[in-house]
Amino acid sequence: TKPLLKVDNLKKYFPVKKGMLGRTVGQVKAVDDVSFYVNEGETLGIVGESGCGKSTTGRMLMRLLEPSEGKVEFDGQELTSLSSDEMRKTRRDIQMVFQDPYASLNPRHTIGKILEEPLIVHGLDNAKERKEKVRKFLEIVGLSAYHAKRYPHQFSGGQRQRIGIARALMTNPKLIIADEPVSALDVSIQSQVLNLMQDLQKDFNLTYIFIAHDLGVVRHISDRVAVMYLGKMVEIAESEQLYVEPLHPYTQALLSAVPVPDPDYKKEQIVLEGDIPNPANPPSGCTFHTRCPFKMDICTKVVPELIQHGPGHSVACHLYGDESDNDIKKMEGSL
Ligand code: SF4
Ligand code: MG
Repeated sequence: TKPLLKVDNLKKYFPVKKGMLGRTVGQVKAVDDVSFYVNEGETLGIVGESGCGKSTTGRMLMRLLEPSEGKVEFDGQELTSLSSDEMRKTRRDIQMVFQDPYASLNPRHTIGKILEEPLIVHGLDNAKERKEKVRKFLEIVGLSAYHAKRYPHQFSGGQRQRIGIARALMTNPKLIIADEPVSALDVSIQSQVLNLMQDLQKDFNLTYIFIAHDLGVVRHISDRVAVMYLGKMVEIAESEQLYVEPLHPYTQALLSAVPVPDPDYKKEQIVLEGDIPNPANPPSGCTFHTRCPFKMDICTKVVPELIQHGPGHSVACHLYGDESDNDIKKMEGSL
């Protein structure tokens, strides 16, 4: 496996303006120096509360939003240096599935027209082939060819998300960025859509970035999971590892909120105090210190770096010094 996508030091700062003249009085670091990769055929889950920068990150990967800084390398191409024309071509290979399929499906267009549109935009296939593809992909996502004649309001939420997924598949993409694709759906429908996405991943050799606010949803679909808080990535690990041994106190709190199916297993719920701080005026040092049950003196002063703690497992927290530090402490202790 090789990375299909490599993101280096990605930043998005929005100016905060005040007054009639719109004077810039500060900035919101919506995404603050985020780096990660996604291997071909794998699913990276990105999890965090609303406002943590996960959607902003997703949009920058497609350049629906321009990064303030940083690099996005996709399939050997540096996306941030492409002209808008070249970027338009590349979008064929990167598609997005949105949280609210209803808002992203034009209510005045038939499903057939909605699904055909990406092919027309990218100049793919003739009219007959396009119609053929529409029918094929409706069936692939569990709907029927005759649905092409209907309008978005004639479908349930789950069916509309299937349509959103079909639309994303039309151009035969390599990467799909799914931004909370099941958050608006009932739990029973959620698992159907997740199963469909997993099947499609195998059948079409897709790579996924799966954005969610809840660790429960991404658990089974993700190979690796990244946790974001206030614009920063605070932990990233292989999925199983993250659920068995969450290191960051924020990850531990998010996990403790995930319901456990086994009623005999009692787990301690970590309740976070306070709200997410104002991103325009984030806390000093570790931005999580205002809510962290393990806060130490150093936490208000020094920003913790994202440091590798075990194989494929990195965390940004002062509770975990690097290994060599511990060795030195052990040695000092034994002297
Ligand atoms: Fe908590 Fe400090 Fe770790 Fe931040 S660095 S998560 S405040 S222990
Ligand atoms: Mg969002």
